[in-house]
Amino acid sequence: MGRTKVVGPAGRYGARYGVSVRKRVRDILLRKNAKHTCPFCGARGKTYRISTGIWKCRKCGNTWTGGAYTPTSGLATYLKKTITKEWT
Ligand SMILES: [Zn+2]
Repeated sequence: MGRTKVVGPAGRYGARYGVSVRKRVRDILLRKNAKHTCPFCGARGKTYRISTGIWKCRKCGNTWTGGAYTPTSGLATYLKKTITKEWT
């Protein structure tokens, strides 16, 4: 896949869609493909996205739902905290 100096992984779109849009896509793609830490086993760089919001770890095999472009979203962190507080 084409990568460019200016728009990185969004370089696969060639000269299409305009620079500002491709720069925005670059930020999202970089976040999606970055090395994330598995929330179950703590392995780094072993998580990958199956589909929008669905993440899997290559090490422990867990599948979970998270953010669209990151394994955990801000809302998920907030809910986890709130739920733990309520149940214990
Ligand atoms: Zn894991």
